[in-house]
Amino acid sequence: MTGKIIKGIAGFYYVIAESGIYECKPKGIFRKEKRKPLVGDNVEFEILDPTEMTGSMTNILPRKNELIRPAVVNVDQAMVIFALESPKPNIGLLDRFLLTMEWQHVPAVICFNKEDLADQKQVLPLTELYRNCGYEVFLCSVKQDKGLAQIRMRLQGKTTVVSGPSGVGKSSVINAIQPDFKLKTGEISDKLKRGKHTTRHVEIYRLNFGGYIVDTPGFSSFSLAGIGKFELKEYYPEINKFNSGCRFMDCLHYKEPGCVVKDAVNDGLISRVRYNNYIRLLEEIQNMNSY
Ligand code: GDP
Ligand code: ZN
Repeated sequence: MTGKIIKGIAGFYYVIAESGIYECKPKGIFRKEKRKPLVGDNVEFEILDPTEMTGSMTNILPRKNELIRPAVVNVDQAMVIFALESPKPNIGLLDRFLLTMEWQHVPAVICFNKEDLADQKQVLPLTELYRNCGYEVFLCSVKQDKGLAQIRMRLQGKTTVVSGPSGVGKSSVINAIQPDFKLKTGEISDKLKRGKHTTRHVEIYRLNFGGYIVDTPGFSSFSLAGIGKFELKEYYPEINKFNSGCRFMDCLHYKEPGCVVKDAVNDGLISRVRYNNYIRLLEEIQNMNSY
């Protein structure tokens, strides 16, 4: 049998296969070889008890990729959801979500929800800002049932990490694209309410129209640890486009003279908001490393 690990709790792995979800333990060989199964792994297993739905995991199939934040493997893309209003989009935070994905080489798309609440004058500049950076941007309103078909198409057949701050409508969007999710997302929020200190686990859900989504509990704090100062600029697609032309080969596009990125900001080719966010993060990294 083959299947996909949708969650792991205390040494047990829940593997979704054609005939249902099996509770599996990895064979001893895994421990010996120090191979740790991860959520998202495609695995081979033997059924131990077909009524109890238990199994023994015998093999982990090769991974496409391995994310650290959140800890999940075989991801195709990320969808970062923000609201256009209530809460107002926090660009600095949005950029951190995007950066986390760029750093892990996961293509990201942006979804702005609650279009019904938005001041239309602000929608275009915001969507243009990110489209000009090269991101695909979706607008939707769960309340008005708008824009959801496009999102469904984007998710179909892919494994997508869904992230974003709380209150933007992540559960609502997920429920709206697949109504029978209602129960599952309800369960998640119940668990959340039970206590702030409950460890929540990364979990994958199968989409009935094809594909998977990865729910990312507590994935709201960002660490820049592990990102080098010369690396950061690579994770801003619109800055990375200018990866040559500066007077200094290792230009950080910061205080150096002869910098084509700063010229591009002054000429309006790169958004100043995004550039300022880049500088803020760069300074954060520099301060971190000077201790
Ligand atoms: P999550 O914390 O990101 O999962 O957000 P929820 O899905 O729980 O939604 C937070 C609140 O926003 C709820 O009260 C929803 O009813 C509301 N909401 C979600 N989508 C929309 C929308 O498109 N328009 C409006 N006006 N409210 C929405
Ligand atoms: Zn430069």
